[in-house]
Amino acid sequence: MSTTEPMVIVGAGQCGARASQALRENGWDGAITLFGDEGLLPYERPPLSKSVLLGQKTTAQCAIYDEAFFREQRIDLRTDAPVAAIDRVGHRVVLASGDTLGYHRLLIATGSRPRRLDLPGATLAGVHMLRSVCDAHAISAELRPGRRIAVIGAGFIGLEIAATAVALGCEVVVLEGASRALMRAVPEVVAQCLVAQHRQRGVDVRFGVHVERLVGTARVSGVQLVDGTTLACDAVIAGIGVMPCTELAQAANLDVENGVAVDATLCTNDPRIFAAGDVCSFPHPLFGRRIRLECWKNAEDQARVVARNMLGHGEACSSVPWFWSDQYDMTIQIAGMPALGTTTVVRETGSASRVFFALDGDGVLVGASGVGQTGEIARDVRFAQELIARRACVAPHLLADRGTKLRSLLAAEAQ
Ligand code: NAP
Repeated sequence: MSTTEPMVIVGAGQCGARASQALRENGWDGAITLFGDEGLLPYERPPLSKSVLLGQKTTAQCAIYDEAFFREQRIDLRTDAPVAAIDRVGHRVVLASGDTLGYHRLLIATGSRPRRLDLPGATLAGVHMLRSVCDAHAISAELRPGRRIAVIGAGFIGLEIAATAVALGCEVVVLEGASRALMRAVPEVVAQCLVAQHRQRGVDVRFGVHVERLVGTARVSGVQLVDGTTLACDAVIAGIGVMPCTELAQAANLDVENGVAVDATLCTNDPRIFAAGDVCSFPHPLFGRRIRLECWKNAEDQARVVARNMLGHGEACSSVPWFWSDQYDMTIQIAGMPALGTTTVVRETGSASRVFFALDGDGVLVGASGVGQTGEIARDVRFAQELIARRACVAPHLLADRGTKLRSLLAAEAQ
């Protein structure tokens, strides 16, 4: 299939890069242009807070595809070409350079950007956030043995960096405004297991703590809390959440509702324009609500679906949310939406490994959260993900009994 206009993708992150490949895989023979603004090959972000900071992986090794791939696939990757506007009437994008490019279909895959600390002292040297390769290099230079690191936010970034910093010999305090860690993403019981691990390794994790200002002259030297306490530190790393990059869509009068609002096929209110990944909110058929997901797996899943839909397939995006985090020698894996559950059932899958299943008021499995050793939780979470996709009602005693293979429940569901 080909027209003279290219498929244009704005945003060369996980979702954009994978979508460019999926367009080819699904038979698009025409031109594909992928616009990025970081000056780098598209790369994976999950290693940045872990193996890259630990020095086990270089940032170059995080590239999703090498240059040869883009050449061979005839994907015109422009890594330093910010898009400034979408001209919906002319069906073209306008670059910051002033150049324009027409599109057959346009994908907005602009992702999200870190929320900035809005505090006095936030611009001092030694204050960091982690989103990009560039941020990872800057943080890497800070994490040296004996240094005191103040982490603001006990979300994924904060806790993963805390674990990494401890492994590198730093002294770490984590300051979270909420009453517990990972409030939005993870059931409390799972968050408690993680926080217990952090405390065992010497991390000072504090909740309900509000930062007043960052102290220092040219460089940060402390964090002053609203109660007047000042904690001395050598660097601050903030992980206080992200915002979807919706500016282009908003300026083009596309619907925005906690992200670029798309329908179940990831199409915006303009039939030629799609959005996918962190930047979009979409109606999830399994959960009967509009959601926005900020995770690697969603970027991967939606890249595949959106590429097919840009080619006219009209498929609903219905994959079950799934994400993971590695901290110390523990893994957590979350499938579905545990927050929608009204009953929790625990399965002990190893001496220090558990899977928590969440059932809604009708007994339908809506979430599964594993914490412990990967080998002791991954299988159950994977099969739970499939049960969630089928809206299965599973008897709590079967879920609790580690002798009951979830695979057999899945087979029974299929009959
Ligand atoms: P996050 O997971 O949303 O956590 C941010 C935490 O910081 C929340 O608990 C938030 O509380 C808290 N917070 C907000 N403002 C604060 C303040 N001024 N002082 C203290 N605490 C504050 O976001 P993140 O850790 O920054 O991660 C960024 C993105 O990367 C997220 O989309 C995350 O999913 C993704 N990521 C994912 C993984 C993974 O899946 N393994 C790993 C790393 C990053 P409130 O919720 O009350 O605002």
